[in-house]
Amino acid sequence: MQHYRFVRWFFLAMGLAAVIGLTGMNVYSLYALHESKVQSYEEKQKQQMLEYTNQVRTRFRYPVRDLWQLDMEQVGVSMHSPEAVSRELTAIVADAISDELFSEIYLTTPDCAACDLIGAPVWKYHPPSGFFFETTEYKQLVSDGLAITRTRMNALIHEYRWSTRVIFDTQNSMTVALINSTEKEIVGYLLFVIDRDYLINSYMGPKLAETFGTGPESGITVWLHDWTKNEVLAATRSDEPYTYQRVDFIQNFPDLLNDWNLKAAFTANPDLAASRASLTRNLAVLAGAMILLLGAFVFMFLTAQRERSLAQRQALFLANVTHELKTPLSVILAAGENISDGRVTDTDRLKTYGSHIYNESLRLHKMIDRLLDVAKSANKNVIIQKRKTNLAAFLRSYLQMKQSYFESHHVNLQLEMEDHLPEIVVDPSDLHSILDNLIDNAVKYSLDDKLVGIRIINDDSHISMKISDNGMGIPKKFHKFIFNKFFRVEDALTARTKGHGLGLAIVKDLVTRNGGDIRVDSTPDEGATFTIAFPIDGADGNGSKTKMKTNTNQPESEHA
Ligand code: ADP
Repeated sequence: MQHYRFVRWFFLAMGLAAVIGLTGMNVYSLYALHESKVQSYEEKQKQQMLEYTNQVRTRFRYPVRDLWQLDMEQVGVSMHSPEAVSRELTAIVADAISDELFSEIYLTTPDCAACDLIGAPVWKYHPPSGFFFETTEYKQLVSDGLAITRTRMNALIHEYRWSTRVIFDTQNSMTVALINSTEKEIVGYLLFVIDRDYLINSYMGPKLAETFGTGPESGITVWLHDWTKNEVLAATRSDEPYTYQRVDFIQNFPDLLNDWNLKAAFTANPDLAASRASLTRNLAVLAGAMILLLGAFVFMFLTAQRERSLAQRQALFLANVTHELKTPLSVILAAGENISDGRVTDTDRLKTYGSHIYNESLRLHKMIDRLLDVAKSANKNVIIQKRKTNLAAFLRSYLQMKQSYFESHHVNLQLEMEDHLPEIVVDPSDLHSILDNLIDNAVKYSLDDKLVGIRIINDDSHISMKISDNGMGIPKKFHKFIFNKFFRVEDALTARTKGHGLGLAIVKDLVTRNGGDIRVDSTPDEGATFTIAFPIDGADGNGSKTKMKTNTNQPESEHA
């Protein structure tokens, strides 16, 4: 049996572990799926940011795309005066100036001998005439751009060979170093002044909006940021203010716009929000299922434990009852045998044997009554014979019957009741059992100085009977258990007292069947009071089930 129980629990525990494992895996894969969705979404956005910067770069090179096909040797030859500049180069420049991106275009020779600022004459393209003219009235940024390009070209002397190069002075200018790859020399510089306003407001800003979207559904906010001045130049969402804390990703521009970069914050996009919501929902359901499963497991375990202990107590009860029945029987048997044999003739001894037989029969009778009560409480179909009962009269005759019991147990009885009480409808034999059990307990669980109080209270709808003692009392935590079958408070006095934990279960059952209610009020070491209440006949639908009123003078008790 023990073996089977172990196997049963083992398989249950394994099953539970398997379910927990599977659930854990399930949760993990849901989580991983969500994370990979988030990651792939973010990766896609990052790729788009890189793509954006590349497109900006291409945008700058596009107007001068044909420069790379020019015969640089011929360009070099034509660079002795502004009027002589080669027609092909002029045509490309004419095309480039029509692009709003560039506001002015300058040309200069690599020679620095005759130039005060940059060491070369500076020629400006004049769109209406289609020619270059020498000028000295150029903006500072022109000389800055050329100075940067010259320095870079000197530094790149080994690298620049042999291909025409584009060098940016961030968002101010773009300079193309024209290189004759055959002669391995720079033949001139073309300098394009960038229209910053057009670049930001007509190109990069709108392109940002077009690429990344402007609504919350885009799941991203991108800012074009001048990090040198900490200035936001354009943003995809005007409702999302730029803060450093929010930046999730930074993308620089390759080779150009060194002072600027793109910064991005990933926000809740509806797709991801839905995926997160579904993850949370799944997690909640799985957690709920887990709690239910664990709860069921713990519940099963506890119930199995309780059933086992109940079965053990029942077995013990049967063994004890058999033993207790045998003891008076054997006394009766021996006494009866002695008398019937005619061995005892002496009147005094006959009297003694007779009283043995009487007392033991009484004990036996009481035990059988108890057993019948147990059987009755186990059988829900037992018919009870309710009658109109006058509690005062009933109690008086009951106490008279019990008088010798009280005397033999040295009980000080205190009775408090009105003489004329309204009637209640109960089965008197049940009331008898109820009182027997409650008074027995009051006596059993009191020490030497035994005081039993019986008080009847009439509140016009119910009659309550309070049976109290000054005994050991019951700790509050046990109040809700004492009416359970086979429950006994575990302490030294209870252990020394005979009982099977059935009395109060029977009392509660009988009280309930008779339409009444029972409750306990008790403080350890101060005694216990059991209150039973029955509806007054005719006051409350004639014997219907009653609910006890809360006694405000006493500590709140568990309703049984
Ligand atoms: P038992 O046969 O153990 O007396 P009961 O069902 O009558 O079984 O009582 C259940 C438990 O409640 C007892 O074991 C005892 O611990 C506690 N109890 C019942 N009545 C009293 C009382 N008047 N004073 C203290 N403890 C009590």
